Amino acid sequence: MAKEVSIKFLGAASTVTGSKHLLKTPDRNILIDCGLFQGIKSLRRKNWEALDVSVDKIDTVIITHAHLDHCGYIPLLVKSGFKGAVWMTAPTRDLVEIILRDSARIQEEDAERANKYGYTIHKPALPLYTMADVEKSLVLFNVCNDKEWIQLSSDIRFQFLKNGHILGSCFIEMECFGNTIIFSGDIGRKKSELLAPPTQIDKADFVIMESTYGNRLHTNDNVMDDLSEVINSTIHRRGVLLIPSFAVGRAQELMHMVLLLKRELFIPDIPVFMDSPMGADATEILNKYPAWHKLSVEDSKALHDNIAIIRDWHDTQKVLDKKGSKIVIAASGMLTGGRVLEYVKQYIENKRNTILLVGYQAEGTRGRALQEGVHEIKVHGKYYTVNARVAQISSLSAHADQLEMIDWLKNYKQKPGKIFLVHGEPMVQEAFRVKINDELGIDTVIPLQNEEYNLFTTE
Ligand SMILES: [Zn+2]
Repeated sequence: MAKEVSIKFLGAASTVTGSKHLLKTPDRNILIDCGLFQGIKSLRRKNWEALDVSVDKIDTVIITHAHLDHCGYIPLLVKSGFKGAVWMTAPTRDLVEIILRDSARIQEEDAERANKYGYTIHKPALPLYTMADVEKSLVLFNVCNDKEWIQLSSDIRFQFLKNGHILGSCFIEMECFGNTIIFSGDIGRKKSELLAPPTQIDKADFVIMESTYGNRLHTNDNVMDDLSEVINSTIHRRGVLLIPSFAVGRAQELMHMVLLLKRELFIPDIPVFMDSPMGADATEILNKYPAWHKLSVEDSKALHDNIAIIRDWHDTQKVLDKKGSKIVIAASGMLTGGRVLEYVKQYIENKRNTILLVGYQAEGTRGRALQEGVHEIKVHGKYYTVNARVAQISSLSAHADQLEMIDWLKNYKQKPGKIFLVHGEPMVQEAFRVKINDELGIDTVIPLQNEEYNLFTTE
């Protein structure tokens, strides 16, 4: 009897966070990515709503990479009764563990603070999940290598293929009842100092594709030139350079680039700090998986030897107090929280200093506000005037731009049958959809939250 294979979009549908795509098949139901919604309040509130599918109908979870908007919902799924396997690559597993522990800690602390000071309508305020939920999740994790086929049933198998976004990140190539389905996760840049370029795929019947920068081109300028210009001009003004960055992935690439510039004498030998306990752990994980990045043993060692990596928050004050020009890399990358805010408070009002934005800045974040040129920003209840230079190097982004994504699609030996665009803001996705249509003539759909599409019918 003919049976349907369909896909249901439970997140990152017409928005950039909350990635969750449920592949429903006659054999098993597979959830690709299990991310949290982040950014503005209306999005974050969605994390509290029940999934539009019964959790006991989900058999397996596969995770493309360790960013919170792709893995941060796992403990909630487990809390709701999920007991199946969660597949990921080995570096992703190590990073996911750090990210989930950090996420649970923040939520427990937020709930505690809300209860203590009574600023909540929910009594008592509860964390989305706890450290205990994270522990229960970790035991379900299964790891495999890239290019290693994992058989989920007689008619379904998948493999991970490196996609150049962060350490351990991969495309998922799924063979399902004779059809090939590609889940892109977040697609990385072609040229990276840290990671190999995204794997070129040859054929696919369906591509579930991210579209974060679907309407944008990163500048073609040499990233190293841009970075040295920002560093040197800040030093010239006797200022401090603050680089808000994702602790996982981007921070390590930035550290490496700064060291390269120092080694080649493009910049003076000023102190460099990376202030993030999570970033410190991520740097160690990088050293553990040499096959997953391009750094030599010496390069990896140099990160530890030449950059002050700050774990303890007591040391943050010491960095703040240190006089003279310096470079500080701190999380979070969109200035939504974390230690970077302590530096922002201290440095943003002085015009000698520079804040360098290097990654995607989601709607509703302080990073987006700075990018749009606001004259003041609010941190911990107080307004600060933006006098520091706000610079941006978009080509430092960990996401491919429109041209790179179009090229990746063009280089398929056989044109993909159909594309579903996810992980993008609506206007951006529409522009990208039109572009794909004009240049490649591929049927492209922009699904909405909880929409389900029939892909094909099995015999
Ligand atoms: Zn990502």
